[in-house]
Amino acid sequence: MNCQEYREWFRKREVLSSEGIISEAYLHAKTCRECSVINKIDTDLENKIRRDLYMREVPDGLLNRVELNIQSISGVKKRSSILWRTVAPALTVAAMVLLFISYNFTYFRSVEEVGRLSVESHMENLPMMFKAEEVKDISLWFRERLSFPVSIPEIGESGLKLVGGRKCKLGRNEVAYLFYKKGDKRISLYAIDTKKIRYEMEDNKKYHLPFKECEVDIWKSGDMVYSLVR
Ligand SMILES: [Zn+2]
Repeated sequence: MNCQEYREWFRKREVLSSEGIISEAYLHAKTCRECSVINKIDTDLENKIRRDLYMREVPDGLLNRVELNIQSISGVKKRSSILWRTVAPALTVAAMVLLFISYNFTYFRSVEEVGRLSVESHMENLPMMFKAEEVKDISLWFRERLSFPVSIPEIGESGLKLVGGRKCKLGRNEVAYLFYKKGDKRISLYAIDTKKIRYEMEDNKKYHLPFKECEVDIWKSGDMVYSLVR
């Protein structure tokens, strides 16, 4: 090994450490003054570092502070907390919107809404599911098909004749639909579960509303709200 080879080895000695090369280098340093000086300086420096750097106790809380800093700098933690801070309120808003939508479609919020939906249904000219003379117990017919008991009101109006019925939907709510006739005029009666009504209604007070070319009477009686469209 010559001087150049020794110095080359010296720079890379942490990785070039096979036994053969170490004994060659050792041999060269022993016989070459200059290279032995390089070796001595290096050895002295290592010893000095070992001597001057000694273990000290870490000040209170320093490790914690370092750890916290690492966490706040660390991309993963940071991203997940930013994500959570953004996503959590967005999810809350989405949930509120869904609640609001389902609430608005599931319940009747005003007597006008009941009137409007009744008139829309009345104009659809839906076919009857049964004829009045074919069904003995109309309440039973509805009880088998709806989730709430339906009572048929006594409408003391001369010339008004019940001809049939069906179930149908007003908005999202299933209701009982009764078909009446007065002369040639088609009259619709909707029987709604009061649990679906989310506004104040006085018992047996008639609310009269004109809608398009129709007239609507809406009243509450016991567990039913009725809407009569003519
Ligand atoms: Zn040398």
